[in-house]
Amino acid sequence: MTVPPDYDLLIAGGGLIGSGLALALARQPLRIGIIEAVPPATHEQPSFDSRAIALAFGSRQIFEGIGCWPAIAPKTTPIRHIHISDRGHFGVTRLEAAQASLPALGYVVEARALGQTIYQGLKNFSQVELLSPARVININSEPAQIQIQIVSQGRIRTLSTRLLIAADGGSSLVRQLLQIPVQRKDYGQTAIIANVATERPHEYTAFERFTNTGPLALLPLGEKRSNLVWTVKNTQVPYLAAVDDETFLAHLQQRFGQRLGHFTRIGKRHIYPLQLLRSQQQLAHRAVLIGNAAHNLHPVAGQGFNLGLRDIAALAQTLADAHKAGHDLGAPETLTAYAQWRQWDQHLIARSTDILVRLFSNDYAGLSLARGLGLTALDLLPPLKRRLMRQATGLAGRQPRLSRGLSLL
Ligand SMILES: Cc1cc2nc3c(=O)[nH]c(=O)nc-3n(C[C@H](O)[C@H](O)[C@H](O)COP(=O)(O)OP(=O)(O)OC[C@H]3O[C@@H](n4cnc5c(N)ncnc54)[C@H](O)[C@@H]3O)c2cc1C
Repeated sequence: MTVPPDYDLLIAGGGLIGSGLALALARQPLRIGIIEAVPPATHEQPSFDSRAIALAFGSRQIFEGIGCWPAIAPKTTPIRHIHISDRGHFGVTRLEAAQASLPALGYVVEARALGQTIYQGLKNFSQVELLSPARVININSEPAQIQIQIVSQGRIRTLSTRLLIAADGGSSLVRQLLQIPVQRKDYGQTAIIANVATERPHEYTAFERFTNTGPLALLPLGEKRSNLVWTVKNTQVPYLAAVDDETFLAHLQQRFGQRLGHFTRIGKRHIYPLQLLRSQQQLAHRAVLIGNAAHNLHPVAGQGFNLGLRDIAALAQTLADAHKAGHDLGAPETLTAYAQWRQWDQHLIARSTDILVRLFSNDYAGLSLARGLGLTALDLLPPLKRRLMRQATGLAGRQPRLSRGLSLL
């Protein structure tokens, strides 16, 4: 007689994506385990840091489907307008929530607040078990299950599951253990993140300003406060990280201009080296890669988490339907159906993010003219703008039930 595995589903990595998938599946009759190296309630949790995440409107719908939007909503600031400009060149485009007939184009939330709300939600489901602090150190594939070796407080244990989900981030060890190769592109850019206070209120506007050293975004976060994501060349980082707040804000003011009046204060600066990383396949025997383990994008268009959340919506539906039909969760047909469903959106978002970074991070005369014309054309052509907005809000393509705000049940 074969012994059933310990879990139906084991998730390696309980960051925003791993914990989000567990919550999406928590109402299903499945035994789910999350293996997370850094306990979620601690300040060191790397996925739940002080970066702000711009949630697309489509992500709000997914959280509604999962049932946790009422808990997240009070911690968000809506984006009602998006202002896109190119420093030193003509051409501006404005996107308005009203044009898309939506209450907001998106919502800004601190990653830490989002992560802690997801874990709060998980506490209601006893069939989801959190193993933390615990780190995956090895895996061993067998025909009917997969064995995961973890180390927890100095003790090594082996767990078994029908399906392993690798959500262990951009440097995924599981991806390496599965010998899945990656395609990597180093942009030579780093993001500097900080909260800034401004003289004028943001009026729920997100600003995306392209400069010759890289894009600069300001996301509305609370009253008269915005979250800065300033992409600079790697060579500028030692200086910009070391200067005092006043000098830093003077440089920022010069790059951003006066749209929000003076920058009056700045919080702690955080540094993130940027790259594009895509795993060349997302499936292995009884294993799937999701989130940053599968695709780690430049934050220029604020798409990384939104894309990962759409992966969650499609994977949760595929697994719930497979389980209901009595199919094996780790069967190749189940996993291939998921991967094919997500291929187009993942490819489109990774390509367009990469093009945006390359197109807007230089000062060639011909390109800056084309950029100016492009932004002006976008501003003057409502159908083109509506298409862009559908894509940016995550509402294009075949939508899983969760993406339509419906529960999986
Ligand atoms: C500056 C910046 C701004 C961004 N802004 C936006 C935005 O506005 N909108 C948006 O959609 N996206 C944004 N993103 C992207 C978003 O932050 C990521 O897509 C998201 O955090 C990915 O989450 P993840 O859970 O896949 O990976 P991670 O956040 O890397 O989490 C991985 C988890 O796995 C754990 N782990 C790692 N190895 C192991 C192991 N061996 N065993 C057990 N656990 C392990 C880690 O402790 C961690 O908790 C931004 C990114 C950056 C850098």
